[in-house]
Amino acid sequence: MAQPKKLVLIVIDGLTPAAFERGVEAKTTPALAALAERGRYGTATSVFPSLTPVCLSSIATGGGPDVHRIPHLVWWDRGGRRLVEYGSSFGAIKAAGMARSITDAIYTMNQKHLSTDATTIYEAVEDAGLVAGAINITCYRGRTRHRPTLPGVTKPAFGPRRFFFYSLFESDQTGAPLAVRNRAGGSIDAYAASVGRWLVTRDGFDFLAYYLSDYDYASHVHGPESAHDALARVDAAVASLTAAAGGVDEFVERYAVVVCSDHGQTHVRKAVPLQDAYTRISDEVLVTGSNRAAMVYRRERCTHETAALAALLDAEPSVEVTLWREGDEAVARRDGEELRFAPSGDGWQTSGDATILDHPHALARVWSALANPNAGELLVSAAPGFEFADLAGRHHAGGGSHGSLVAGDSLVPMLTVGLEAQPTRITEIVPAVLEHFGIAPPPYARPLAHAA
Ligand SMILES: [Zn+2]
Repeated sequence: MAQPKKLVLIVIDGLTPAAFERGVEAKTTPALAALAERGRYGTATSVFPSLTPVCLSSIATGGGPDVHRIPHLVWWDRGGRRLVEYGSSFGAIKAAGMARSITDAIYTMNQKHLSTDATTIYEAVEDAGLVAGAINITCYRGRTRHRPTLPGVTKPAFGPRRFFFYSLFESDQTGAPLAVRNRAGGSIDAYAASVGRWLVTRDGFDFLAYYLSDYDYASHVHGPESAHDALARVDAAVASLTAAAGGVDEFVERYAVVVCSDHGQTHVRKAVPLQDAYTRISDEVLVTGSNRAAMVYRRERCTHETAALAALLDAEPSVEVTLWREGDEAVARRDGEELRFAPSGDGWQTSGDATILDHPHALARVWSALANPNAGELLVSAAPGFEFADLAGRHHAGGGSHGSLVAGDSLVPMLTVGLEAQPTRITEIVPAVLEHFGIAPPPYARPLAHAA
């Protein structure tokens, strides 16, 4: 049998299917359009909460939050008795403690928070004797120890053999410019493009995760329909890979390709601090909110049942649905109505009003989020147009945001070239890539559906 092609996974943070399709149809994104001409396109569903650390951990492990255990951008670590903040905003990082947050985002998320029950794509690929690479993706855990390349930083990290992380870790000297010069101007993706060009020129990997983060940043500021300049820069970063192979045809001849995003974005016009809904019992609960999802943790002295904490949010216009576990069931509450559900065989057993969770793959995503031991007892998905202010009161009102169960936050573009399976959820990327290489998927991965 012929050797499978090598594979490049391109993740464009926050790119909606609509923005992707417009760029491809109008050819304003020529590199993506050229790949789309040669591949298969559909949409796929993200996880809940649809926030980058949760989504990238799912993309890199093939598991939901119940498997990888990263619950949100900001959460309460019960064992460590402290708040974890991966970077909701610069203000939130300062509020949570600058050094601590940066350490959490760069090291602790991979070394401690990411469950050892989850296998990363890099671990799976390299255990099979292949070489994996990662550029800038925040879920990077691998088996090779890398020393930092920035002066003054000494703590090592464990990544794949080819490991590049915002100029902080560089497994090879590529001559790429410093990543963190001008975020709004696209310097992080310019760094990724420079490293990617170097790696493709040398054909230096079997699997490469190529993560472009600048689009999400621009879309938060300008809104999901207006980040045109950022999309053009994303396309240029993709073009630098294909050009390094000698052109698109040469690129897809050498590599299978997956292009996707981690979550969508929707417009937000109003932000609220959700903890205000609990002012009268503020010593009983801890609320962690950011973007369009929040979690409520019951403190030890809490006398309210989780159901009662949910009912207290009934009158909140920012809240669309509240979610919690009750025994073997999950409960979703919206406008005072409830839906109860539990897995049953290949499907779900439900009672109550099914329209409460009328969102893409909602029951499975909610179940997975609630089964994460690091999640709050109560999860909250925001109503359209609303956002929950973060620790520092920061938000994106007037721009774009994501995190909720609604389709706009949850659906992502999924383009594959030369791949046998077409993922319909971001958790199917790992099993599809491993199948391509002839490697067994991790035990928690969902079986792939194949077109007849
Ligand atoms: Zn974002």
